[in-house]
Amino acid sequence: MSALLEQKIAALEQLAKQLEPGQKQRSALRKQAVAYGERFLEDIYTSPAYVPQNGQLALLDQLNVEDDPKSLPLLLDTMAKTVDLVGINPASEGHLGYIPGGGIYTSSLADYLADITNRYAGLYFGSPGAVKLENSLIRWTSELVGYPASALGNITSGGSIANLITITTARDAMQITPDKIHKTVIYHTQQTHHCVNKAVRIAGLGSAIMRSIPLDNLYRMNPILLRAQIESDKAAGLLPFYIAASCGSTDTGAVDELDKIADIAAENNVWFHVDAAYGGYFILVDKLKPLFKGIDRADSIVLDPHKSLFLPYGTGIALIKDGKALFQSQHYMASYLQDAYDGTEEVSPADLSPELTKHFRGLRLWLPLHLHGLAPFKAALEEKHLLTLYFHAKVQALGFEVGPTPQLSVGIYRFVSKKEDANAFNEKLVKAVQKDGRIFVSSTNIKGTYWIRIALLSFRTHKVTIDRYLGILEEKITELSV
Ligand SMILES: *Cc1c(COP(=O)(O)O)cnc(C)c1O
Repeated sequence: MSALLEQKIAALEQLAKQLEPGQKQRSALRKQAVAYGERFLEDIYTSPAYVPQNGQLALLDQLNVEDDPKSLPLLLDTMAKTVDLVGINPASEGHLGYIPGGGIYTSSLADYLADITNRYAGLYFGSPGAVKLENSLIRWTSELVGYPASALGNITSGGSIANLITITTARDAMQITPDKIHKTVIYHTQQTHHCVNKAVRIAGLGSAIMRSIPLDNLYRMNPILLRAQIESDKAAGLLPFYIAASCGSTDTGAVDELDKIADIAAENNVWFHVDAAYGGYFILVDKLKPLFKGIDRADSIVLDPHKSLFLPYGTGIALIKDGKALFQSQHYMASYLQDAYDGTEEVSPADLSPELTKHFRGLRLWLPLHLHGLAPFKAALEEKHLLTLYFHAKVQALGFEVGPTPQLSVGIYRFVSKKEDANAFNEKLVKAVQKDGRIFVSSTNIKGTYWIRIALLSFRTHKVTIDRYLGILEEKITELSV
């Protein structure tokens, strides 16, 4: 029996060891993966920003998960054809739609190392260094927005989860118990990101009253109407709870008047939340700082390093000014983790978010920030802002009607031709630009009016990209007008 058992274990060990390639094998695998990445980067400025379909997705159905191994070249080839050569290319300079991504190269090195070392960044006990490193980044962001040392936060997978953490914390801190939800009021605008509505529902607040506060002519929350609505809600015996302000709305890039909203929130004891997922890190640009006046007065803030710090997808930040409220809302003392608490000063991410085991995401932010220094990040942000103003001026010269002067790096515009319905024409124009594929833009509908958007946030987008896009617009208008 025992000999048989040992034989069996030995056989299993042989097979299991394939999960641990040796030095030579690692080198061969790494070379192929690196070569893939290099080819991708070498082609990036000539690859399309958008390919609607390439007819190769079926290749994925042909690859079953089986006992036997497949070759890396086969898998990389499948990945190229089914993933990287179809859809929107977020790494492209020509991605000017939605809120562009990017993914700076040096983050990928940090991810590579974080995956190899696989540090457990959830609990201080397990990896004091990893947790301290992540906390240092939270503190840096806290200081940027003017928060006190008592603020706490969490590096999340993105802005949606960060918004979920902030509303859950507010719910607990403001003691919105189930009996009160139907009287509880949440204030937002048409420009508030839909992830806030989702978070409200997921946090069990789906039957709360949602008040959409009208916008001013810059698409910002109208503070006079906000105050009036809160006062009338209080008079009606309702419980004003949460104001979701936008600091750079996704749709039009509008920055709400944070200082004025902070006054109203303070007067009425309402939780003041700022969703700065898109706009947050523009605070690094000196001349844009005045737009952020009052952000330090928010009870909670969400930022997305995978947007305005150009990181690869999967990096958001939730900040809560009263750190204790975050801890109280999110921690849990599990008995099997009883040895994991030694009363140290550093708070563990697992106590500040729903996650326990998580990717060591801090490293992909920490490495580039220190390796490059802040200067190029600031320069890239200011460059994108100025390029948006440049586009705003140039597109008017082409005969387009434009929305408000862009506050950050999103603008809206549309071509009004005498011959044709403007909504229908601009929709055709967007389709034509997308079909061309060199540039990807998206559109929005504001009170029945179709607007084309430009959103500049890819670190690869420079003046040559914008000039190319202006050329494409001019060309497509001529084509569509005949
Ligand atoms: C992108 C965005 C979100 C959602 O963040 P994800 O990282 O996509 O989950 C929330 N709010 C605003 C203003 C955004 O731009």
